[in-house]
Amino acid sequence: MAATGFGNFRNGTHGTRASLNSSTKASLNSNPKNSSLKSKSLNSSGFRKSAPASLGAAKDDAGVPGRVRVAVRLRPRNAEEMVADADFADCVELQPEVKRLKLRKNNWDSDTYEFDEVLTEFASQKRVYEVVAKPVVESVLDGYNGTVMAYGQTGTGKTYTLGRLGEEDTAARGIMVRAMEDILADVSQESDSVSVSYLQLYMETIQDLLDPTNDNISIVEDPKTGDVSLPGASIVEIRDQQSFVELLRLGEAHRFAANTRLNTESSRSHAILMVHVKRSVKGRESALSSDNGNNSHMIKSLKPPVVRKGKLVVVDLAGSERIDKSGSEGHTLEEAKSINLSLSALGKCINALAENSPHVPVRDSKLTRLLRDSFGGTARTSLVITIGPSPRHRGETASTIMFGQRAMKVENMLKLKEEFDYKSLARRLDIQLDKLIADHERQQKAFEEEIERITIEAQNQISEVERNYADALEKERVKYQKECMDSIKKLEEKWMMNQQRHASDENMVGLKDDGSDVTSKGEDSGVAVVEEVAEIKKLLQKEALLRKAAEEEVDNLKSELAQSKKSEALGNSEVSNLSKMLEDEARQKEKLEGEIAMLQSQLLQISFEADETRRRLDKGWSEKIHGGLDSQMSQLRHPQLNDTGNGEKASIAKLFEQVGLSKILSLLESEDADVRIHAVKVVANLAAEETNQEKIVEAGGLTSLLTLLRSSEDETIHRVAAGAIANLAMNETNQELIMTQGGIRLLSMTAANAEDPQTLRMVAGAIANLCGNDKLQMKLRGEGGIKALLGMVKCRHPDVLAQVARGIANFAKCESRASTQGTKNGKSLLIVDGALPWIVQNANNEASQIRRHIELALCHLAQHEVNAKDMISGGALWELVRISRDCSREDIKTLAHRTLTSSPTFQAELKRLRIDY
Ligand code: ADP
Ligand code: MG
Repeated sequence: MAATGFGNFRNGTHGTRASLNSSTKASLNSNPKNSSLKSKSLNSSGFRKSAPASLGAAKDDAGVPGRVRVAVRLRPRNAEEMVADADFADCVELQPEVKRLKLRKNNWDSDTYEFDEVLTEFASQKRVYEVVAKPVVESVLDGYNGTVMAYGQTGTGKTYTLGRLGEEDTAARGIMVRAMEDILADVSQESDSVSVSYLQLYMETIQDLLDPTNDNISIVEDPKTGDVSLPGASIVEIRDQQSFVELLRLGEAHRFAANTRLNTESSRSHAILMVHVKRSVKGRESALSSDNGNNSHMIKSLKPPVVRKGKLVVVDLAGSERIDKSGSEGHTLEEAKSINLSLSALGKCINALAENSPHVPVRDSKLTRLLRDSFGGTARTSLVITIGPSPRHRGETASTIMFGQRAMKVENMLKLKEEFDYKSLARRLDIQLDKLIADHERQQKAFEEEIERITIEAQNQISEVERNYADALEKERVKYQKECMDSIKKLEEKWMMNQQRHASDENMVGLKDDGSDVTSKGEDSGVAVVEEVAEIKKLLQKEALLRKAAEEEVDNLKSELAQSKKSEALGNSEVSNLSKMLEDEARQKEKLEGEIAMLQSQLLQISFEADETRRRLDKGWSEKIHGGLDSQMSQLRHPQLNDTGNGEKASIAKLFEQVGLSKILSLLESEDADVRIHAVKVVANLAAEETNQEKIVEAGGLTSLLTLLRSSEDETIHRVAAGAIANLAMNETNQELIMTQGGIRLLSMTAANAEDPQTLRMVAGAIANLCGNDKLQMKLRGEGGIKALLGMVKCRHPDVLAQVARGIANFAKCESRASTQGTKNGKSLLIVDGALPWIVQNANNEASQIRRHIELALCHLAQHEVNAKDMISGGALWELVRISRDCSREDIKTLAHRTLTSSPTFQAELKRLRIDY
């Protein structure tokens, strides 16, 4: 049964989202036997210990058994891209540590995809082999089928990854060479055999690259086992690495020759290397001995030898770019169809598997028939998708990524881990903030207590010093007084004594009445006086000393007082230091709050991105991913439909509520540039939802956005703000508001200073929306709106041109309506403002977006006879004729035809030129 192989592959691979998450986290190299081939332990049969016979899916420890493991590998920029894309960022950004790839949608928006392995442009060939192919090779050695495929646009490195021989540089060896090395190292030369076939599949024909004469090999399927074989293909036994490399080189040469002969390109063909590994198992002793103990000997001798066969298929797929169906490379349509038949059949099978469809169309192509048993329950398959960095090939890169994602069979590839990261970060910061607040409060309390303590201490010291001083003063005073009293008392006593002595002397003089006595008495009293004076002097000296000591004491006390005053001042400065610290803390807190607000706004933005992504996913895989440009355009034109699941909506609404629109809008004026940028992104995201637009405008968001255009110098802010304005400008009321607030002037100014095409695209988109408002025609033109649009065509980026074309078409439509209603006379303002040459030049632009708008604009202009003359002299008549003949849109074609036939001026000109119309 054709579907059996794929069916088995599918069974058990259909996981819930949770299990898929865990599986994608597992490395590609998740084989249970992840030890190196050379160092592993062999059991007695020469095989590594492996799972029992029914292998299947359950033995894979990666969580999702049998699932195709998908790695993405990015090629470094080549010389041409270094020059041509010098001004542009890569279209992808890899995050190998989280196994994610971001595909840029525009300058600020990207989609994130998760793979089993993400290999950057710096990944070595060895690492690529180890993560992509080694587990497969190990399973082949254990007797299973294994496949390694490379898928990607031509030139992105499929052959580099798989087929490089690395003779000039061993580090450059590709997967084929390394796989053979590991196989040869593991097999036994005596009992095992390794043989290869090397084929090319082109236009559903299989050619033998080892024998070029053999160019129509058929596929045979064993109806019983489902095994696929190519009995017609050469099989060459390989004994050593050198002969294998030689064989690969020979195959490559034949491939080149065959392609030259058939006039084909190798990028259109698939190269298939098949390696058959046959190993003999000498009895089954290892499996049985443990069960049967001593009987093993006997059983061994009874059992016939067993051979285990494994097959490794390495497929270097044709370039995944879509070939032109018209056969521009000289192919007929039939050829063109069958060239990529196999590749598209492979895609269909993978889609069917991814969608769990009951029918997997394996029989549709040779490639899928050939790979059928590679997808069996026991097979291990690795896919490496190769991509280039150039933004010019974004479309092809996106489709390659989607192919890889479908091959992973993950229902919802976009992981929203960041959402949680931000949430938890915000939560962590919240906790941190709370902790800081509590610490801060505690510290404040401690500071206050400390200050009080110091103050009290200082006061105590001062009062103690004062008390000491008073005490000492008092003591001195008392002492001094006492001493004074003592001295006085002494003096009084002495004086009394002298008096007495004097009185008795007088008595004696009276008795003797002798003059000589007078002399002696006089001498006596003179001595006493001298003594007395000397004593008083001494006393006085003592007093002076005491006084000096007291004065010193006073000085001491004074200096002590000064000291304590100083320490009080010190205490005061400490207090002011502490309050400064408090202020710092408060500032820090404010900053953290700002950060939290910013994180919340980022979180909100991410939620919106996630929402948008989910919405896109909800729409199903059937939608084409190739139209990257189209979807970007429609993003700008249409408000996004809000058909998300209720759960998502609720969570976003909750977040929105938490942060609050006014808070977000206030962040637009934040002093921190990062916060401003994030805030404007959030507003832009919100503005993309029709339901939010009114609220944003009501809360003054439109004015803030216009102010940002004026006040900010930052191009990112200009770009995002212009994008938001473009979205708001889809609503008529807002269009009038934008005009009254000088929007045209601000947008033109932004355009004049912008270098980034995406900024110009947004500005042009905004003006284009305004161009579609009947009431604003005159004012818009008067303020230079048309001139601003035409000024932007300098930037030749197709996205910008498409917006300019849309604006012109909108304007022409409104004008035409006004002319028909009679509210406008005279020729088109577009013609007056000099738009016609650009219109004519781009009427047949290769980008359908641009072409279609211009075709419409031309038809509108042509409907009014006043414009006919200018249109004829400007060369627009030819474009109209062309449109009426070749336009792929039937309605436009008819409109052009009708216009041409009903205009007398055009008719006259056509007649003059003898053109039969
Ligand atoms: P494909 O087979 O997908 O068409 P190729 O393998 O031929 O692409 O690679 C195209 C060019 O890019 C080659 O010159 C190749 O050497 C180079 N190239 C591819 N991948 C890498 C890489 N990882 N590192 C360096 N050069 C690379
Ligand atoms: Mg190639």
